[in-house]
Amino acid sequence: MSGNGNGGREFSADLLVAGGGIAGTTAAIEAAEVGKQTILIEKNPCLGGRVLQMSKYFPKLCPPSCGLEINFRRIKQNSNVRIFTLGEVKEVSGEKGNYEVKVALKPRYVTGKCTSCNLCADECPVSRKDEFNYGMKETKAVYLPNPMAYPMKYVIDMDVCEGESCGKCVAVCPYDAIDLKMQAEIITVKVKSIIWATGWKPYDAKKLDNLGFGDYPNVITNVMMERLAAEDGPTEGKIKRPSDSGGIQSIAFVQCAGSRDENHLPYCSTVCCAASLKQVSYVREQFPYAEIHVFYIDIRTPGRLEDIYMKIQEDEKVFFHRGKVAKVEEVENNNLIVTAEDTLSGTLTKQKADLVVLAVGLVPNSKNGNLPVDLPKDEFGFLLPGGRDGMFGVGTAVRPMEVSTVNQDATGAVLKSIQVR
Ligand SMILES: Cc1cc2nc3c(=O)[nH]c(=O)nc-3n(C[C@H](O)[C@H](O)[C@H](O)COP(=O)(O)OP(=O)(O)OC[C@H]3O[C@@H](n4cnc5c(N)ncnc54)[C@H](O)[C@@H]3O)c2cc1C
Repeated sequence: MSGNGNGGREFSADLLVAGGGIAGTTAAIEAAEVGKQTILIEKNPCLGGRVLQMSKYFPKLCPPSCGLEINFRRIKQNSNVRIFTLGEVKEVSGEKGNYEVKVALKPRYVTGKCTSCNLCADECPVSRKDEFNYGMKETKAVYLPNPMAYPMKYVIDMDVCEGESCGKCVAVCPYDAIDLKMQAEIITVKVKSIIWATGWKPYDAKKLDNLGFGDYPNVITNVMMERLAAEDGPTEGKIKRPSDSGGIQSIAFVQCAGSRDENHLPYCSTVCCAASLKQVSYVREQFPYAEIHVFYIDIRTPGRLEDIYMKIQEDEKVFFHRGKVAKVEEVENNNLIVTAEDTLSGTLTKQKADLVVLAVGLVPNSKNGNLPVDLPKDEFGFLLPGGRDGMFGVGTAVRPMEVSTVNQDATGAVLKSIQVR
C-alpha cells in the first residue's frame, strides 16, 4: 500500500474481483491459492451475495453456510486476498496488464474493534427495514448484516441513524468500536486484470400486475420464500402466511413469473424450476397434508436437478398444471384464486390457495450502465463470456446459473485472468 499523491491510499495486485458472492469469493481464493495478489471488492457490508439468503441449496439441500463457509475459511487463511466491503468500482482506466481502478468505500461507522456483542443494537432507538430479509423483518440502525456475516462486524445505516445527537451506541460500546465521524474514501488499485462477479437481483414482481404482488399480502416471491423457510429468517424457519401468520393447507407456485415473456424477461432463468421444487420440499416438510400446486410452462431441471423433479412427482398431493397463470385474485380472508389455462386439457383451471409463490427470474446487476466500463453484453444485459482486454465476467453476471456451475465458471475465468501480463 502507498499514497497516490492526492492523499488517497493506493494498492497494487495482480487481479481485482468486483463482487463478493459465491462467484467472486471463488475467483478470489482460486487466484490467491496459485500465489496471485488479489483484491476483492464487495458493495454490501459483508461477503456472500444471494446464496447467503437461501434457506438450503440444491442439489444436496445443504445450508448456505456449507460452500460459503469453506470459501470464507480459505480466504481468512490466505494473505494474498485483501477484502474491501462497502466498496464499489467507480472508474477504470489504462489497459490490459496495467489497469488503474478507483474504488469508492462507504464508511461502516464501526471499526475493527467490534466483537459483535450486540450491546449497540440493544441500545439503538431506531429501526429500519432489513433488506437481507426482503423487508419482512427489521433491524436497528446499527446491525449485523446477517448471522453468518464475513467480516463479522456491525454496520450503521446513516440514512436512518440519528448520529451524534443520539450517540447511545457510542456510549454503550465497551470496545470503543463506534466511530460516527468515519469518512468515505476513494482508493486507487493498480491491477493487471479484472473479474466482474456482480451477480443478479430478482425481477421486480410489482411489474407483473396480473399476479397481485404488492396488492395481496399472501402473494410472495421465490426469494422471500427462501427467507421464510430459513431458520435465521423473519419467522425462524416456520413458513407462515404473511397476512395472519397462519399455516398452509394449499399453496401455488407460479413458474416463469415474468420469465420467457417478451413484456418482462424474455429468457429462461434456468434455476427457478429447481428452486421451486426445492421449496415444495420445504412446504412438505412442515405441512405433511398440504396440497401443493405447481403451474408451469415446461419444467426445466437439467442434469442432476432432474432427480429432484422425479422425487417430487412421487408425492400424491403435489399437482402439476401445465399452463401459464393468467391472474391471481384475492377472495375472503386474504385467500387467493389462481386462474390458468391448462394447456394439456384445454380447460380453464381455478385453484384456491392460502399462499402464492411467484418464481421470478434473475436480472443481471451489470444491466443498464451499472458498471463503470463498457463491456460486451447480450441483449438482456448479461456480460458476454470470454470478456475483453483482460476483463472477464463470471457467474450470474454472465448468465443465470446454479452454484456448482458458478464455481466452475469462476475457476475457469481465473485461469484466463492469471495469464494476463
Ligand atoms: C429462488 C432462488 C433459489 C435458488 N436456489 C439455489 C439453490 O438451491 N442451489 C443453487 O445452486 N443455486 C440456487 N439459486 C441460484 C443462486 O442464487 C446463484 O447461482 C448465485 O447467487 C450466483 O452467485 P453470484 O456470485 O454469481 O451472484 P450473487 O449471489 O448475486 O453475488 C454477487 C455479489 O456482487 C455484489 N455486487 C454487485 N454489484 C457490485 C459492484 N458494482 N461492486 C461490488 N460488488 C457488487 C453483490 O452485492 C453480491 O454480493 C437460486 C436462485 C433463486 C432465484
